[in-house]
Amino acid sequence: MSFFDRFLSSLRAAVVPPTASPTASSTASDRARATGGDGAHAAPPAGTLGTIDTMAPVDDGGTVAAPTRGLWWLRWRNLVATSWFMFIPLVAIVLFSAAMGVILWSLHETERQQQRDALYRDAAWAQQRVRLSLLSNQDQLASLARDIAAAQLEQGAYRTAAQEILRENPEIVFINWLDATRRGRWSLPSTSEFAARLRENQDQPLEPEVLDTFDAARETQRVVYSRPLTNDRGDSFMLMEVPIVRDNEFLGTLGALYSINGILTHLLPPELTERYRFSLIDKNNQTRASTSLRPVPGNALSYEVLLDPPGHSLSLRADAYPPPSNLPNNMLLWLVVGLSCFLLWSLWSMWRHTSRRSEAQRALLAETSFRRAMENSMLIGLRALDLNGRITYVNPAFCRMTGWQENDLVGRLPPFPYWPPNDQQEMQRQIDLTLQGKSPSGGYEMRVMRRDGSSFFSRMYVSPLVDSRGRHTGWMSSMTDITEPKRAREELAAAHDRFTTVLESLDAAVSVLATDKAELLFANRYYRQLFGWEAEGHLKLAGDDVDKDQVSSDNTDYVDAYAGLPASELMPYTSDAREVFVPDMQKWFEVRRRYIQWVDGHLAQMQIATDITVRKAAEEMTRQHEERLQFTSRLTTMGEMASSLAHELNQPLAAINNYCMGAVARLHSGRSTPEDLIPVLEKTSAQAVRAGTIISRIRGFVKRSQPQRREASLHDIVADAVGLADLEATRRRVTILTRLPAPPTMIYVDPVLIEQVLVNLLKNAVEAMSGMPAPRAGGVVRLHARIEPGEFGNNVHIDVIDQGPGVDEATKERLFEPFFSTKSDGMGMGLNICRSIIESHQGRLWVENNVDGIGCTFKIMLPLQPAMADQ
Ligand code: ADP
Repeated sequence: MSFFDRFLSSLRAAVVPPTASPTASSTASDRARATGGDGAHAAPPAGTLGTIDTMAPVDDGGTVAAPTRGLWWLRWRNLVATSWFMFIPLVAIVLFSAAMGVILWSLHETERQQQRDALYRDAAWAQQRVRLSLLSNQDQLASLARDIAAAQLEQGAYRTAAQEILRENPEIVFINWLDATRRGRWSLPSTSEFAARLRENQDQPLEPEVLDTFDAARETQRVVYSRPLTNDRGDSFMLMEVPIVRDNEFLGTLGALYSINGILTHLLPPELTERYRFSLIDKNNQTRASTSLRPVPGNALSYEVLLDPPGHSLSLRADAYPPPSNLPNNMLLWLVVGLSCFLLWSLWSMWRHTSRRSEAQRALLAETSFRRAMENSMLIGLRALDLNGRITYVNPAFCRMTGWQENDLVGRLPPFPYWPPNDQQEMQRQIDLTLQGKSPSGGYEMRVMRRDGSSFFSRMYVSPLVDSRGRHTGWMSSMTDITEPKRAREELAAAHDRFTTVLESLDAAVSVLATDKAELLFANRYYRQLFGWEAEGHLKLAGDDVDKDQVSSDNTDYVDAYAGLPASELMPYTSDAREVFVPDMQKWFEVRRRYIQWVDGHLAQMQIATDITVRKAAEEMTRQHEERLQFTSRLTTMGEMASSLAHELNQPLAAINNYCMGAVARLHSGRSTPEDLIPVLEKTSAQAVRAGTIISRIRGFVKRSQPQRREASLHDIVADAVGLADLEATRRRVTILTRLPAPPTMIYVDPVLIEQVLVNLLKNAVEAMSGMPAPRAGGVVRLHARIEPGEFGNNVHIDVIDQGPGVDEATKERLFEPFFSTKSDGMGMGLNICRSIIESHQGRLWVENNVDGIGCTFKIMLPLQPAMADQ
C-alpha cells in the first residue's frame, strides 16, 4: 500500500463505514500501481468507487470538461446510479401498502355489504311491524264497526271499546264515528283538538283528504287510508276510515287518526331506532316524520320500503347510522399506515445516508485524483523505507530521477541499484544512520547513479513515517536534484575566488568602511600592506573630506555619523576621482569612492586608492619641461625678431644721438639759451622712454618666472603683444589693427603666456602675409576680441585674422603638431605650445579659413573665470 493510499484509506475510514472501503481503496491503489503508477488514468475500481463515471471527466491537462446536459439531469442520473438499490425497498413498500389497501378495502366492502343486508332485513322487519300493527288496529276498529252496525252493544260500550283501542295503541290519537251524513256521533278523546274542530265546525266542510277518505270508504265499503294531513303545528297525521255497513247499507265510518310520528315512535322497536333513523315519506317524497333528528352522514346506507297497503303511498325509509368504530380494524389500519410511514422514513434516512456517503466518496475520489496528480507532478523524489530498510514506496519523480521502475525498487533491501559502485560504503553508512534515526536534520548530499550509468548529485531529507494509529512504521526520504544548484554554487565560489584573486592582486588599495561607525568592512592585500587592518588608512585617503570630530564618534544617527564622511557626498551611485597626498607616506593617491549598500543592507563607502606618486612626479617634470619650452619659445621668438628689435631700438637711439649732437652743437656755438635746449632734451627723453618701453616689453616677455595666474587686463595683454609684434609687422609693412570690447575686461590668466600666444599668432600672420604678392603684401592683420556668454559662464573670444594664403584642409590639424613647419627656418613648435597654453587655461585654439577666401583666422576661446578646480 502506497504512502498516499495509506493516507487515503485513513481518510476513507473516517467517512465510510469500515466494512465498505479498505479493500476497495487498496484495490484502487493496487490497480493504479498495476497500470504503471499513473493513477490519473487508472480504471475506476468496482464497488464503492463505481460512481466515477458520474463525475465530470478530467482530461490529460487536468481541466474539467463542461457538462453537456442540465445539472438536474446529472444529479438524477447520479442518484439513480448511486442509489438504484434503494428502489427495491421502495417498490416493496409500495406493493405492501397496495396489498394492505386492497385487504382493507375488501374488508370494508364486506362490512358494508353486511350492513346493507342488515339494513334490508331490519327495514323489512320494521315494515312488517308497522303493517301488522296497522292491520291489527284495522281489525279492531273493523270489529267495533261491525258491532256498531249490528247495534249489539249499547252506546257507551262503543266508546269504552274505542277508549281501549286508544289506550293500547298510542299511535292512534283520535277516534270518531261519523254517520252517513258525515255528522259526528262521538269522538275520543273528546278533549282532542280534532274533537273540538268537529264540534266547532259542524257546518264547515272537512279537509279534502278527510272527505276523500270518507267518500272512498262509503264507495268501496272498505277500510280506506287518507293521504297525510298536517295540522297547524306541522304534525302529520293519517286517517283510517272504517266503514260501518249493515246489510250493504252505509251507516257511516269509524275513523282513527294516526299520528305519523306516533307510528314511528310506538310501532318500531328501540333496537332498530338506535341503529337507524326511520322516516315516513309521502308520495311527494316529503319526509312526514323521523325517529330522530340526529344527522346521518351523506354516504350512509339507506333503504326505502312501501307501507302500502295499508298505508296510503307512505314509504318507510331507514338511514343507517355509522356503525360504532371497529377498533381492531382501525388498529390494523393505523398499524399498516404507521409501519409504512416508518418504512418510508427509514428508506428516506437510508437514502440520505447513502447520498451523503456517495458525496463523501466523490470528495474522496476527487481528493484521490488530486493527490495522485500531485504525486505525479511532484518534482521531488519520495522514497519510503520500512524499519528494516526495505523500500516500500517510491513516487514517479523518484523513478524518473533514478531511471529505475517502481517494480525494480519496491521490496529491495540495501544496497540499492542507484548507489554508485564507488560510494557503496558511504551510502551504507547513511542508510544505517537513517535506520537509527540519526540522519542529519539538514539532510545529506549523495551521488545517485541513474540506470543508464550517468549520475547526479542529490540532497536527501529523512523523516520518520508514522501511520494513522501513531505507530512508527518506517522512514520517508525526499530527494532533490541539486546538480544545478551545486554547479551554480561551485561557479559562484570560483567566481568569488577569481574576484578575490583580482582584488587581492590589484595594485590599488580597496577598502570598504561602514558609514555608521569607523569599522573597516573589507580591505584588499594592497590596502593591508599600506595601512594594516586599520580604518585610519581609509580616512587618510579620504583626505580633507573627513570630519575628524566624527570619526570616533559613537553617534549612530544615520546622516550625521557617516564615520565623519561628508553627508554631501552620500550619492550612492556616483564616484569621483581625487588626488590625495598622504604626508606620512609622502605619496600621492588617486582616490575613487562611492557609496554602496553592504551585504548586511547598511550603507558603506567603498574607496579605491591608486598610488600615483610616480605619475605625479612625471607630470611635474612635464610641466617644468613645458615651462622651459615655453620660455625657450619666447626666447626664440625674440631671437627671430632680433633684427626688428635692433631696428626698432636703433631709431630712438639714433634720434637720441641726433638730439644730443644738436644740443652739443648749439652749446658749442654759444648761441643757445637754456630755453632752446629744453624741447630738445624733452624729445631726447621721450625717445629714451620709447626705447625703454621696448626693452621693458622684451624683458617682460622673456623673463623666466613661475607660471602664475591672476586677474589681468585683456587690453594690457593685447597692447603688449601688439607692441612686440608690431616691430616685425612694421618691418614687413603690415599693419596690425585691434578691436577690443569697450569696457576694460579683466581675465583670470597667466598674462605672460597669453601674450606669448598672441605674439606668436600675430607674428605668424604677418609672416604669412609678407610672402604674398601685392596688393595683399602690406595688408592688414586684425585682432578682434569680444565677450560672449558660454555654457559655463562668459568667454572671451580673440580672433587673429590675416590675409595670407590660408590653410588647406589636409594640414589644418597638423599645424598644431610639434615640429610642423613650412618655413625653411621654422621650428614648428609655436602653434603646438600656443594650443597647450590655451588648453591649460580650459580654452580652445583652432583655425578656420576666412569666408571671403582670403587668409585665415586663428580663434581663441578662453573662459573669463576658469573652473574652481584649476584656479
Ligand atoms: P613656425 O612658425 O616655426 O613654422 P608655427 O608652429 O608657428 O611654427 O607654425 C607652423 C606652420 O603653420 C607654419 O610653418 C606655417 O606653415 C603655418 N602657419 C602658421 N600661421 C599661419 C598663417 N597665419 N597662415 C598660414 N599658415 C600659417
